[in-house]
Amino acid sequence: MWSFNHIEKSMEKKLVKVAIWGFGAMGSGMAKMIVNKKGFDIVGVTDVYDGFVGKSIFEILKIENLQNHDVLVEKDIERILKVEKPDLVLLATDSFTKKAFAKLKFIVEHKCNVISTAEEMAYPYAKEPELSKELNRLAKENGVTILGTGVNPGMMMDLLAICISGVMSDVKNMEISRINSLSPFGPTVMEEQGVGLTLTDFNDKLVKDELSGHVGFVESTYMIADALGLEVKSFEQSMAPIVTNVDRKSPYGFAKAGDVAGVDMRSIATLSNKTKIKMVHPQQIEPELEGIHTGDYIKIKGTPEINLSNVPEVEGGIGTIAICVNMIPHVINAKPGLKTMIDLPVPRAIMGDVRNLIDEE
Ligand code: NAD
Repeated sequence: MWSFNHIEKSMEKKLVKVAIWGFGAMGSGMAKMIVNKKGFDIVGVTDVYDGFVGKSIFEILKIENLQNHDVLVEKDIERILKVEKPDLVLLATDSFTKKAFAKLKFIVEHKCNVISTAEEMAYPYAKEPELSKELNRLAKENGVTILGTGVNPGMMMDLLAICISGVMSDVKNMEISRINSLSPFGPTVMEEQGVGLTLTDFNDKLVKDELSGHVGFVESTYMIADALGLEVKSFEQSMAPIVTNVDRKSPYGFAKAGDVAGVDMRSIATLSNKTKIKMVHPQQIEPELEGIHTGDYIKIKGTPEINLSNVPEVEGGIGTIAICVNMIPHVINAKPGLKTMIDLPVPRAIMGDVRNLIDEE
């Protein structure tokens, strides 16, 4: 009886209208996930890639159209925002707050909520306090919410450690490791990590500051520190090439033997109470080809000690796709403003009708 009412109730509610800006590896994966969930409606998709523009997303994805209308990829978001009036835009085009800023502003000024996959947006206050203030102001002024999230930063090297610290009476040092595969990611990630470069080109780009490597240690560290009520007193990070001994090929990357298959990133931070946060994150395409096993590990010294491990890693592609989609109802329900993962209810998989997760006005 109860579940019958529950279903009837969801049928009365409007579908949750979502638009996707950036139909690459992440954006297209989100579309695939959403069409298989109840209560969503993808009302628009935009991408600058000419090979997509004008085509049906269902044709591109080679999946059945389970919606009652088609969705053609458009070059420009404006019509979608003005005419389709989505409840939320999934923005999957950038890594940096500065680069995503104009897009976020445009979305928000059309009174639409937004979830960004930009790594820096997972905790934008860390590197871009002024832009963060401005985003917060714009979101409040327009009555909508902005969230940055992803698998990492956004969950595996920050939020998960923060959540588990909730059963600790005292936190001393943390060591968070993620040994992961870059294979699911698209061209943007391949380029940022230097996948496929010769060692000489890699070192050259490193000197010229043209490789970002993993973007997120600073964001994860500041998120943890703020969540624990501590300040970051010092922070250092390093990036070294991972040279492959065998040819490695992933959907969007190729590194021949002797060239760079990824980067080994490390960081260490000291917080105001002398707590150290160490992060270890070697990431590369096709690690298994050289016997490297992926995994996520969180060790926290303190009371009680924590020793979490998850083998193999939470796969970065599906992890990011899922957390962005799963956060949609929380973002729609949130008070207006710029939010981070520590401000919103805990993420959980949407298995029922998403409309039941949307608060009544
Ligand atoms: P991708 O290169 O596969 O896709 C990006 C897409 O955006 C491309 O199709 C491109 O044509 C499109 N695009 C770029 N600029 C555009 C614009 N101005 N207008 C419309 N379309 C535009 O990259 P991806 O793997 O999908 O990742 C997207 C971003 O998300 C990357 O910057 C990546 O680093 C980030 N990311 C973050 C996490 C995390 O854990 N926080 C995880 C995965 C990806």
